[in-house]
Amino acid sequence: MGSDASRQSRAAMPACQREASCGAMDDDCRHADMVIKAGTIHSMASAGEADARSYRAMAVRDRRIVALTADHDGADDLIGDGTVVVDDRGLTVLPTFDDTHTHLIFAGRAANDVQMADAKDLGEFLGLIRRRASSTPGGQWIRTASNWHELQLAERRMPTRQELDSVAPDNPVLVKRGGHNDLVNSAGLRLAGVTAQTQAPEGGVIERDAAGEPTGRFEDSAIALVEQLLPAPSFEEQVEGLRLASAGYAATGIGAIRDAAVNPGEVALLRAARDQDALAVRTQAMVIVGFAGPKPVMSEFLDVLEADGTRPGEGDEWLRMWGLKFVIDGGVENAALDQPYANRPDYRGELQWEVGELAEAAGLAVRKGWKVGVHAWGDHAVHATLDAFEAIVHDRPGTAPGTLVLEHAGLARPEQRARAVALGVPVTIQYPLLYGLSPALVEYWGRERTADIFPLREWLDEGAVLSAGSDYPNGKCDAMASVWGMTTRQSPVGVLGPGHAITRYEAARLHTADAARFAGDEQIRGTLALGMLADFAAYRADPLTCPIDELRGLRPVLTVVGGRPRHDPHGLVAGGTPPT
Ligand SMILES: [Zn+2]
Repeated sequence: MGSDASRQSRAAMPACQREASCGAMDDDCRHADMVIKAGTIHSMASAGEADARSYRAMAVRDRRIVALTADHDGADDLIGDGTVVVDDRGLTVLPTFDDTHTHLIFAGRAANDVQMADAKDLGEFLGLIRRRASSTPGGQWIRTASNWHELQLAERRMPTRQELDSVAPDNPVLVKRGGHNDLVNSAGLRLAGVTAQTQAPEGGVIERDAAGEPTGRFEDSAIALVEQLLPAPSFEEQVEGLRLASAGYAATGIGAIRDAAVNPGEVALLRAARDQDALAVRTQAMVIVGFAGPKPVMSEFLDVLEADGTRPGEGDEWLRMWGLKFVIDGGVENAALDQPYANRPDYRGELQWEVGELAEAAGLAVRKGWKVGVHAWGDHAVHATLDAFEAIVHDRPGTAPGTLVLEHAGLARPEQRARAVALGVPVTIQYPLLYGLSPALVEYWGRERTADIFPLREWLDEGAVLSAGSDYPNGKCDAMASVWGMTTRQSPVGVLGPGHAITRYEAARLHTADAARFAGDEQIRGTLALGMLADFAAYRADPLTCPIDELRGLRPVLTVVGGRPRHDPHGLVAGGTPPT
């Protein structure tokens, strides 16, 4: 913006409204919109082992930090009539966290589903459905989210159709587990019209009891028989889903996310959510190439994006097109490994793109200005991706570091890490994903390989550009549990590769300063410093010094993004102490 424009906006600014006695133009008014007086304010600005730069008071004006002081009362002269003051020495403040690989759109779709990820036994599971049924009109569908597994339940089994009937007699119920397994109650079965005579579609299973009657369970392609009955959400309902899901991120202290799988047609949904102020967190979008379908012709795919006005880097600090996403292998069950699967000696997983094919498609995107992130889980997938990246950089020697990114890089061996660092390829890692998948990983990949996933200590020591996320809803969305996991390497199957652990401060940096640097936003956020955007979260315990296990389930009591409260369950800002 030129100086003429800034002079204009200054002249148009009304006189200060915050205090009658203040005659300054609004732009020059010294009074803050908000002053936070806390026990500790961690800036996260030191790159070292601990936070050398911490404060006790912070002032915010026009979405930005205008004062930081070690003196608890040091920002008091910025308090005017309209200033919200939160004065509580029991609070510890940190920059909001980034979740650099997550799925807001998926979470939005499931925002109204019954959440089962925390259910510990069938009693809890069925109780959650009973509760939902009590507030749902009869005849209306009830659906569960899919990010849970029966092995998390004490009984280690799915509920039965009859058990679902007992808690929701008047509603059709669809229990989703993962992407391939559905269970409906009797009302759902009746609506689907599925009987003992119904044939399963090709590639699908309708489970039957001893008498040949359907049990309510459907697998693989047969799930379409029930899924088609649920009404598709309207555009407005989808925006509301994003509102709920993004508020869920803010409730864990997250202020910025990068959605790793946005279909080209969903960019409009994100824009609408931004325009309606429905995005509680800053969002970067990765447009996914060829998701759940055949690979597109890359030049045509890019033309369609351009025709929609979806361009590299387009957007603002609230919603921005980060780049494109490719998927070269799968997850637990079909990631491409160098050595055979532990439970299938004849199987090493598979690549979804050949190296040359990926280099050509991703290379074309890079030539058009796009950044590219490639999902690569197994060690074979990681070196195939690096082969493609090297070919792209060989063709375009000036390719900027950070243009090509490894998503996950679950198994990264020393020579692969060295290549990634030499190429300037950042890596996004997601400990909550490893935590949640670890029981299945041990079975499919064996314990040794599972313990080698996410070699954080090595990545950092070798100079990689690392940032952290959750892969929610595949992993749990819980910023502090992520820090806990990276520090302890704890999992449901015990400690995994303790030598790969990093310090708590390093882990918190992967979600703050390092993540903002990865996003190219290190000049405006990621640390708390003068002039930075006011993106911060306040906790009742100090996440950098509290007993480590307290981090699990530690939630902020206040999350502010862009100077506005996005999570304020106790009304700390709404009821901020007025000055005397
Ligand atoms: Zn993902």
